[in-house]
Amino acid sequence: METKVVHVDPGRLEDFEKELTQAAEIIKRGGLVAFPTETVYGLGANALDSTAAERIYSAKGRPSDNPLIIQIAKKEDYEKYCIIENVEAFEKLKEKFVPGPVTIIQKKRDIIPHTVTAGMDTVAVRLPSHPVARRLIELSGVPIAAPSANTSGRPSPTKACHVIEDMMGRVDMIIDGGECEVGLESTIVLLKKEGVTLLRPGGVTLEMLEDTLGNITVDKAVKGKLEAGEKPLAPGMKYRHYAPRASVIILKGEDKDVVSFMKSALDDSATGLICYREDGIEESDRVEILGSKRDEGEMAHRLFDALRAFDSKEEIKRVYARLPEDSNLGLAIVNRLIKASGYTVVEVK
Ligand code: AMP
Ligand code: MG
Repeated sequence: METKVVHVDPGRLEDFEKELTQAAEIIKRGGLVAFPTETVYGLGANALDSTAAERIYSAKGRPSDNPLIIQIAKKEDYEKYCIIENVEAFEKLKEKFVPGPVTIIQKKRDIIPHTVTAGMDTVAVRLPSHPVARRLIELSGVPIAAPSANTSGRPSPTKACHVIEDMMGRVDMIIDGGECEVGLESTIVLLKKEGVTLLRPGGVTLEMLEDTLGNITVDKAVKGKLEAGEKPLAPGMKYRHYAPRASVIILKGEDKDVVSFMKSALDDSATGLICYREDGIEESDRVEILGSKRDEGEMAHRLFDALRAFDSKEEIKRVYARLPEDSNLGLAIVNRLIKASGYTVVEVK
């Protein structure tokens, strides 16, 4: 398949109506378009068209038991696709965090095909704040099913070049709209009459949700490893996601011990590092600086790009990284890093 790559400046949408209209035409006729959102790049297809949705699974190599998130452009559209049972929590979430990096799972309406929800009776819906995503959905006139635009198992794409790496020849169009601001996938919450459960942490943090909604249950899969036979509430959380080709090893311990361990580990040319600026280790082919230890926003924004950078370096067999505090946005970073490591944690003394 020939993939057309177009550039759209999110700050000057009116100058790119032609490209966006073309993209919307592709969606309407059942094709695939990768596009930027504020979280990561999405791989979009008409969410009301079962055949189009199937194309997403095959382009990504996504297991068919892992449901897709659908994206909408207007707050009124939630009710068209899901049944709102916990009205109070839903209204608060919508008021406070929508549009933005939060996905709400509720009972699905029949109009959403089972291919999209992988047979589940719930549907995950998000209203993105990114102007390109919003305009594309509006022009398409349908909700767009859009998981992250990476090959299944690879780190999510936060730049158009990541999408090109994974999706060239597999989709009809890639819209290059620059870097994604948040850099991690959306926060996912499950809304039921009985309460609210956090299934995946992201740009809308647990603390922000608790401030607005009170007490929230956190699915075990967010931080812990599930036992054999245990299932996460979000099927995708069971896969070894976000993984680069090299094995990722998480180092725990006092800062000074970890930094000195990392410095000596660099003597081995098969070692890569993900560090903080404060560590005083110079950036190089084998050293990715995630950002400042004190700036979780910067770390989140850079994380997937750092993980992907090691993929182009055959000689690197292992990558050492460490976890930030698991409060605020740190929880989402911890979640992605422990998954990338397949729960491999080493204590440094
Ligand atoms: P992605 O779109 O690649 O960021 O991943 C979407 C995540 O949402 C995956 O972990 C899915 O398993 C999860 N998800 C999507 N729809 C549902 C649903 N109806 N119920 C539970 N989890 C869902
Ligand atoms: Mg994904």
